[in-house]
This record gives sequence, C-alpha cells and structure tokens, in this order.
Amino acid sequence: MEMAPGIPRNCQCGALSIVLTANTSQNPRRKFYCCGAISGPNHLFKWVYEAHLEEFDVLASKQEAMMNDLTEIKQDIVDLKNNMREIKEVIELIKTKL
Ligand SMILES: [Zn+2]
Repeated sequence: MEMAPGIPRNCQCGALSIVLTANTSQNPRRKFYCCGAISGPNHLFKWVYEAHLEEFDVLASKQEAMMNDLTEIKQDIVDLKNNMREIKEVIELIKTKL
C-alpha cells in the first residue's frame, strides 16, 4: 500500500503511529514513525526527518490552495456588495414611483 506523503497519523492497519528512537550503530538516536500496535513488514515505518520534509511540501500545497480559495472568496464578496448596491438602487427607484 502506498503511503501518503507527510507525517503519518496512522499505520495502514489502522493503529495510530508513534515515534520511537533508533539505537543502532548505523542510526544512533535517529527518530522514526512506526505502527503503534505491531512492528513488521506490512506496518508503518518512516524516518521522522523524511516525513517532516514531505510535510513541508504538503503544507505548502495546502497553503497555496487556501490562498486561491481566499482570492475567490474576496472576489465573491466584492460581487455580492455590488449586487446589494444594485438591489438597493432598484428598491429606491421603486419607492420613488409609489
Ligand atoms: Zn500497523
């Protein structure tokens, strides 16, 4: 199963992820995410620094999408204000003819 980029919240088995620290001569004090229930070939393992680097890209993409949404929302507000102004003008016009 393909692992999503970024910080893993869960293992594919559904268990929450936990952070442990490797203590091997090859990886002394190196932190990693792993399955909180079972360690094994079909369960989560990801180095923390790799997950965090990926998370920066994930967050940058989300931020860009949110900025685009914000731009659209701002334009929607401008459009709504213009619509309201036009409606008020029509109402005032109708009032003068009553
Ligand atoms: Zn698991």
